[in-house]
Amino acid sequence: RLTTTAVNSAEVASKADISNQYGVQLAKAQGHVNGFVGAIGNTPLIRLKRLSDETGCEILGKAEFQNPGGSVKDRAALYVVKDAEEKGQLRPGGTVVEGTAGNTGIGLAHVCRSKGYQLVIYMPNTQSQGKVDLLRLLGAEVYPVPAVAFENPENYNHQAKRHAERLENAVWTNQFDNIANRRAHLETTGPEIWNQTDGKIDAFTCATGTGGTLAGVTRYLKDVSDGRVRTFLADPPGSVLHSYITSGGQLKERTGSSITEGIGQGRITDNLKPDIDLLDGALHVSDERSIEMVYRCLDEEGLYLGASSCLNVAATKEVAEKLGQGNTVVTILCDGAYRYADRLFSRTWLSDKNLLRAIPAHLSKYIVL
Ligand code: PMP
Repeated sequence: RLTTTAVNSAEVASKADISNQYGVQLAKAQGHVNGFVGAIGNTPLIRLKRLSDETGCEILGKAEFQNPGGSVKDRAALYVVKDAEEKGQLRPGGTVVEGTAGNTGIGLAHVCRSKGYQLVIYMPNTQSQGKVDLLRLLGAEVYPVPAVAFENPENYNHQAKRHAERLENAVWTNQFDNIANRRAHLETTGPEIWNQTDGKIDAFTCATGTGGTLAGVTRYLKDVSDGRVRTFLADPPGSVLHSYITSGGQLKERTGSSITEGIGQGRITDNLKPDIDLLDGALHVSDERSIEMVYRCLDEEGLYLGASSCLNVAATKEVAEKLGQGNTVVTILCDGAYRYADRLFSRTWLSDKNLLRAIPAHLSKYIVL
């Protein structure tokens, strides 16, 4: 169904102007790409068969786990480095410094190796040794530091900033408030989704860590469709954004936590700020619903996905049900389950989190660890 052109050609022509406005380089069929960075983006859009049949909608997931570093964050990593190069903050042989415990660090490590930069990572020392080891084997210099609040000057983000200031030819890429992150999705993810659906997209739903993905894709889809495409935030427990949006802009204090790593936010980042008012709504997704969807995506679609992807899928199903049959709703499949398998498929961990009961009996065969 996706190959049918749902918009008339005059409309398509005018939309091309929006692509030009954002400097979008749409990929042409090509035999090879140049290095790691050339392999970032242009991921497939996967139709989730069972959920589409169940809802009578087209539910489509952007396969960001197929990026060469394994997650949606490869796009932001490339853009923050390119931005620093363009601004003259990073010259050959320079150093990138970032505060991150997750996918951004992995994306940056690959991008930095590929472009010949050094990478320094600060992270809270509560993170697993596995993450530290992976970043080190990808060539990064890693500093685990005490896990203190953002307000404390010893917080890992501030330490990363100070480290970059002490070095010559170095940049703190600052993924949360550096809008080159949002631009990655405005110039690549958003246009890819529009083209892969031939403009036949009614809604987009996704969760937020830095906000880059949601903000960039929202801005592009709103502009290209003259506001027709509806966009929604999906939020885990312990994040303040859902209540911020549904209360009309009241920011409450952050409490609670979620099993969905990499998402949830306690403030309106600079990446979110320009676009948060464009959103049509927000959905809260419990950990029970996210973990159930991890098992359903595996069983029904053969998709081995991390919890943030499955929170996105659960929220997208809800949006599809609200909009009604015949709508096309797109979301982001952020990364695979590989880095989280020892938790997501462990009976002990599920039991500790009180999530065993969220797994339907016929799916318990996947609890193998
Ligand atoms: N899912 C995962 C697994 C992530 O690591 C991240 C980034 N922290 C996100 C989702 C959210 O992406 P963004 O930073 O663009 O909001």
